[in-house]
Amino acid sequence: MMLSVEEAQQRILATVQPLGKETIPMPRSLGRILAEEITSHLDYPPWDTSAMDGYAVRLADTIGATPNAPSRLRVIEQIPAGVIPQKKVLTGTASKIMTGAPVPKGADAIAIVEDTTEDGEDVLISKPARSDYIRYQGEVVHQGDVVLKKGVAIRPYEIAMMASLGIAHVLTYRRPRVAILSTGNELVDLHEACASHQIYNSNGYGLAAQVEEAGGVPILLGIAKDTRSDLLDKLKGGSDADFILISGGVSAGDYDFVKELFASSTEGFWKVAIKPGKPLAFGAIFGKPAWGLPGNPVSAMVTFNQFVRPALLHAQGSQNLFQPIVDAMLMKEITNNPGRRHYVRGCLSIKNGVYQVVPVAQQDSGNLLSLVQANALIVLGEEMGNVSAGAHVDVQILGTVL
Ligand code: AMP
Ligand code: MG
Repeated sequence: MMLSVEEAQQRILATVQPLGKETIPMPRSLGRILAEEITSHLDYPPWDTSAMDGYAVRLADTIGATPNAPSRLRVIEQIPAGVIPQKKVLTGTASKIMTGAPVPKGADAIAIVEDTTEDGEDVLISKPARSDYIRYQGEVVHQGDVVLKKGVAIRPYEIAMMASLGIAHVLTYRRPRVAILSTGNELVDLHEACASHQIYNSNGYGLAAQVEEAGGVPILLGIAKDTRSDLLDKLKGGSDADFILISGGVSAGDYDFVKELFASSTEGFWKVAIKPGKPLAFGAIFGKPAWGLPGNPVSAMVTFNQFVRPALLHAQGSQNLFQPIVDAMLMKEITNNPGRRHYVRGCLSIKNGVYQVVPVAQQDSGNLLSLVQANALIVLGEEMGNVSAGAHVDVQILGTVL
């Protein structure tokens, strides 16, 4: 039986539980999912702050001020950032103030420096001062406010926000440890001599990078020969991982022993209506969710995106499991046979506010250049045949959106 992409995704997600939580240094939390609600223990700004360089004044003293009839005020104090004002601003007086300094008592507006001229101990103000140049205490956040919700992906902005509240440690979901085993008698590792009948193991490294991009920690188990014994032997290195990824050996070849590993698994399935990547196994190894991904490099990475990445994100407590899909205009026709969901490598661009997508020339599942040249996958539904230029198609953006 062929499963649809969605059925396969749902079955996988149903078996994957969020991992445990851990407290980590806040500055190291980029890309993690927040496992706690962040509440502010202070007001921000903590006091009324000047948003401009200028003079703290009483608004009433500058009403009607013009270049020809400026307000003349006596300057009583200088307030740089980082000091506490000592004097109250009374009618007829002003304190020189810098951006980020506390607004002194008595002042309710700031005259920006550009509208002022110093004149001995006085300042001449040629335009009314403005109270919206004051950032009021608690204007951004009040003590006790919820600032970040549980389940939020931590971006540089969340890091800055937490730093502004003095938060040094944060509770996040743990990063999933993902063991990766490449199978194939023809494979050699980097730094090994590559004989004329051999190829380098690219899946191991490509998948490891995808794991990292999805927030996981890859554990490279290297290469297993296409024998039962070597397969089992090399897999041992993954016994303490949270997830196991095996590439190759799941198709119908004589030496494809990987599928045997999954045969006893209740969840195991073999055929998903997806191109590239029809042979796909999922089940449990060492009681851990495990995938048998196709060996063809493009198939391995495309199926990772559809079936492994969502599970790794779910394990990290993320709510946002799938890469975004946009509507784009197809710029060149695609010949396609109905039956399977087809992920066509494409170049997505935006012209006059409209997405346009061009399929890359080579679509063979062994051709890694097709992925190098692509920044998106054109998603052709199971029922779709040839698609002509000008048609609107769904496009999945390849990227790191968490
Ligand atoms: P398989 O799924 O094992 O039948 O492999 C399908 C194709 O993918 C074959 O051409 C393999 O040589 C190739 N292949 C399998 N594993 C890898 C790998 N780790 N790196 C590069 N190519 C691979
Ligand atoms: Mg193989």
